[in-house]
Amino acid sequence: MSDKKIPYKIYLEESELPKAWYNLRADMKNKPAPLLDPATHKPMTAQALSGVFCDELIKQELDDSTPYFEIPEAIRDFYKMYRPAPLVRAYCLEEKLQTPAKIYYKFEGNNTSGSHKLNSAIAQAYYAKQQGLKGVTTETGAGQWGTALSMACSYFGLDCKVYMVKCSYEQKPFRREVMRTYGASVTPSPSMETEVGRKILAEHPGTTGSLGCAISEAVETATKSEGYRYVLGSVLNQVMLHQSVIGLETKAAMDKYGIKPDIIIGCAGGGSNLGGLIAPFMGEKVRGEADYHFIAVEPASCPSLTRGKYAYDYCDTGMVCPLAKMYTLGSGFIPSANHAGGLRYHGMSSTLSQLYDDGLMEARSVKQTEVFEAAEQFARVEGILPAPESSHAIRVAIDEALKCKETGEEKTILFGLTGTGYFDMLAYEKFHNGIMTDYIPTDEEIQANFAKLPKID
Ligand SMILES: *Cc1c(COP(=O)(O)O)cnc(C)c1O
Repeated sequence: MSDKKIPYKIYLEESELPKAWYNLRADMKNKPAPLLDPATHKPMTAQALSGVFCDELIKQELDDSTPYFEIPEAIRDFYKMYRPAPLVRAYCLEEKLQTPAKIYYKFEGNNTSGSHKLNSAIAQAYYAKQQGLKGVTTETGAGQWGTALSMACSYFGLDCKVYMVKCSYEQKPFRREVMRTYGASVTPSPSMETEVGRKILAEHPGTTGSLGCAISEAVETATKSEGYRYVLGSVLNQVMLHQSVIGLETKAAMDKYGIKPDIIIGCAGGGSNLGGLIAPFMGEKVRGEADYHFIAVEPASCPSLTRGKYAYDYCDTGMVCPLAKMYTLGSGFIPSANHAGGLRYHGMSSTLSQLYDDGLMEARSVKQTEVFEAAEQFARVEGILPAPESSHAIRVAIDEALKCKETGEEKTILFGLTGTGYFDMLAYEKFHNGIMTDYIPTDEEIQANFAKLPKID
């Protein structure tokens, strides 16, 4: 098919939208390692998890053999309000870069929460409602997950309690107010409301918090409140399962026009958008049906895949959550305060960690000043103001397109544009004022946290 016929935006019809999520683990030869009980170091059972998570979500979490899970109709109806997400041919960026590469991006920022996180939030709220729960608790860092969950909970009439990392709570008052508009209660973390919060504050007075710490608080509140469970916006298998809707739509849209990507790029925080985007493509790769070059992009200031260790670690600072085997910087790792671009979790989804360890995926780390340069370049030609997180993927997509310019190769590049950056203007401001710097942790800093990894034999 000639290039000219490919529209700027490729949409699917409502009838072509995915009816089931795809569970990549079912096709993986080396399965991701199981979650372990932090006390006994034995694999977590569904029963042991049931005080923390919703029952149906536990089933999804532990299932590494069922390839497809039907998407309940109520969730598909909600998806129809903002999906399909457009798959855009970046003609303007290609023109600007003067590259022979063909660039596509899947844009997930077309909803009020501004990111892909709503795809899993609505699923998790649905299952909580089905179980007859009163509400859910969670943590949020930059605020996208908390916003998405607030929207999902208000849709199904559930109470929503969000622990927001204190520095974001103070720096992003508008995010907080969006959450409250949707009826959520938002508490800066660490707080005096929980035992673990009080303990962390006593040990580190004046701390501005971390995701790991907010997770501990949210889990504690869920387990101590009747009718509440904890939900998480990334890292877990269930989240990656729900996010497979991104990749399934992308693949269906590309197949419609006979497009096959050579390179697939995504930013990686906890790994859910990247895992979701690549799922059906990686499925083909592990089944030996096709080959693709996958690239995970992470910040140089929080480099879990490129500089972390593949080991069992705590998922939270308070060490109350199950242990996960993942590429990790250690649960005590807190990215430098100068880091502005999100993607600050210390670990990586166990599924992506296993794929990376098996050599099925590449990982690259990029500096934030280079990320914001790419963000600005993209905004000026493609019209969308990208989230700093998403801009990590833009950076590497541009780098790859420029390589094609040198070699003359006409590669097809696909990347995930996970969201918009309207609430990140303080970071953009720093960049424009020329005061954004790059902080790269030293080997000593990284080693110091490895020493605190749990000993598992
Ligand atoms: C949360 C978020 C990410 C990173 O999370 P993953 O689970 O790694 O996908 C990336 N982009 C945006 C816009 C986000 O909100």
